[in-house]
Amino acid sequence: MEKFNPERRKTILKWVSSAGALGVGAMVWSVCLKGANKADALRPPCAGSESEFLSSCIRCGLCVEACPYLTLKLATPSNGISAGTPYFEPRKIPCYMCKDIPCAKACPSGALDLKRVSKEGGEPNINEAKMGVAVIDTTHCIAYGGIQCDACYRACPLIGKAIYLEFRHSTFTNEHSELLPMVNAEVCTGCGMCERACVTAKPTIRVLPREKVLGSVGEHYIRSWKEGDESRILENGVSSSPRKDALDYLNDGGF
Ligand code: SF4
Ligand code: SF4
Ligand code: SF4
Repeated sequence: MEKFNPERRKTILKWVSSAGALGVGAMVWSVCLKGANKADALRPPCAGSESEFLSSCIRCGLCVEACPYLTLKLATPSNGISAGTPYFEPRKIPCYMCKDIPCAKACPSGALDLKRVSKEGGEPNINEAKMGVAVIDTTHCIAYGGIQCDACYRACPLIGKAIYLEFRHSTFTNEHSELLPMVNAEVCTGCGMCERACVTAKPTIRVLPREKVLGSVGEHYIRSWKEGDESRILENGVSSSPRKDALDYLNDGGF
């Protein structure tokens, strides 16, 4: 496990203050704040959207110091993430989902806010964290290649909920069943324990920021035809149901 280096945070702060002393502090700091933000930077639990986080984190490093597993690191000016902000790399050290969430408790600015993991004013619950979402590369995952592997499934603290296994008749042997890991994005916390446990040389399950991965249905989209919709349309003065017309059209062989 990587050793925590308290000097690293001091070095960043020193670097910023010396830049200020040279009279270019404002310029350098603004470059660091706005600088290229690595698309896949994962933030500690209880952070909001990336833009909210960047505007509220004061780069104090207290969350990093509070993390007992040395999961969190402070970005340096060279690693493509807004300098001085905390992030983690699950393949190296995932978030171990401390029940008391010490990183968020230590945050003085509200960038990490326990309310974000508290349901309806209840107690904070780390299982409600949304640091990212696990995504499976089914082309290279060996379970999808016909080899039995459930390393990610077993590593998941929300086993059977965030990751579950789906049985599929083997298309390789035509005799056995395959157990395929699937992620439920609504439950996954983005802790990265699955990514850490993945047995492939480069992980085929990876945690990515939710904003980058998840789509949005949009308010105008109607998911499906619900029972009662037909009568609702007729009540609203439409002469006949478009669904009926469509069915008749198909049944009449009019395509
Ligand atoms: S929940 Fe625990 S392991 Fe995860 S980042 Fe916070 S302090 Fe570190
Ligand atoms: S404790 Fe809060 S303000 Fe300080 S670096 Fe961590 S997230 Fe940013
Ligand atoms: S990131 Fe992986 S281990 Fe963590 S909750 Fe999601 S599926 Fe489970």
